[in-house]
Amino acid sequence: MIDLMNISRQAKSIENELDEEVLSVLHSGKYIMGEKVSNFEKEFAEYCGVKYAVSVGNGTDALVIALEALGIGEGDEVITTAMSFFATAEAISRVGARPVFVDCTNDTYVIDAAQIEKKVTSKTKAILPVHLYGQCADMDEINRIAKVHGLYVVEDCAQAAGAEYKGKKAGSLGDVACFSFFPTKNLGCVGDGGIILTNSEDIYKRSCAYRVHGSGENGAYVYQKMNQGADSIEVDFGDNLPKYFNFIIGHNSRLDAMQAAVLSVKLPHLESWNETRRSIAQKYNSCIINGKVKKPFIADYNVGIYYVYVIQVDDRDAFRKHMNEKGISTGVYFPIPLHLQTVYKRLGYKKGDMPNAEYLADHGVAIPMFAELTEDELNTVIEAINNF
Ligand SMILES: *Cc1c(COP(=O)(O)O)cnc(C)c1O
Repeated sequence: MIDLMNISRQAKSIENELDEEVLSVLHSGKYIMGEKVSNFEKEFAEYCGVKYAVSVGNGTDALVIALEALGIGEGDEVITTAMSFFATAEAISRVGARPVFVDCTNDTYVIDAAQIEKKVTSKTKAILPVHLYGQCADMDEINRIAKVHGLYVVEDCAQAAGAEYKGKKAGSLGDVACFSFFPTKNLGCVGDGGIILTNSEDIYKRSCAYRVHGSGENGAYVYQKMNQGADSIEVDFGDNLPKYFNFIIGHNSRLDAMQAAVLSVKLPHLESWNETRRSIAQKYNSCIINGKVKKPFIADYNVGIYYVYVIQVDDRDAFRKHMNEKGISTGVYFPIPLHLQTVYKRLGYKKGDMPNAEYLADHGVAIPMFAELTEDELNTVIEAINNF
């Protein structure tokens, strides 16, 4: 079977480096946060061209904590795309706000920026674009709308580590950005992991506070800001550890040293892995010739990283069966658009509200895409598609 994604081949290709780093963590006795973690935070912030990074337990927590750090909660609205992984909308709901969905475009599949402005109300606090499948949303237009209406912009970069928009890296294009290091993402660790990036010292300190139980200096900082006008609190930690002084309700969502060590080994390879994915996509673009297949489109201002390569086929079931018979895995990202998820029935959306997202959910299909795909496998996939 040719895999859709294969992370063990990648691990094999950097086996020696990985083994050495992982063992050094194992023997260090330092497993949560610490130097490996702060080193990786620095490296990743620098790679994306952003000042501050706060690593967390996973990409979903990154979104939740970023929204909390912006003070978004009960009664607020956040505009996002109808086509994404559920966590995007879940994070908005988790902080008590309401997700307001906008359709994706029918070519790039990212949020249709032209439809955002009409969804802005007096309750809107932020726009949360998702750089879906490794291609950035139209951030200039999104930032323009945000500026006009005084909104925050939160990037969901879970599928876009290394992607570029007009020469700038994903993660540097809004007020705050959230990444996932789930193992199959373009930059993945060996468990769960995530990170928040920002250029704002304020958002940085708030995110640090929410990461660990709202405690210590950062917790006190957020408390002071929340209670502006009230008497400034004097914090005297005395001889005690600041982490035992709690000021707001936070989370326990940290990156562990093992994950950070793996990520530090992988980060220097990310550009070349993404470059290889682009050359595979190039080959798919030029060699897949079948009138039944619509290939993905990358806007000219974007450098995509092909987290997945999604084509559209009218009879998707027949296509997947055909590929399966040829020994080729396919996948669907994602079969149910967010506005039609059962949990969001209460929001009152109906089928037909987001035609592009619905079409993609029914007809989009991902074909094998990972940097270690062999020439033979690639040719087998192309031949199978052309014979469909
Ligand atoms: C993977 C993903 C997330 C969530 O990341 P986790 O690390 O699995 O919590 C959020 N948004 C998008 C678009 C994703 O693809």
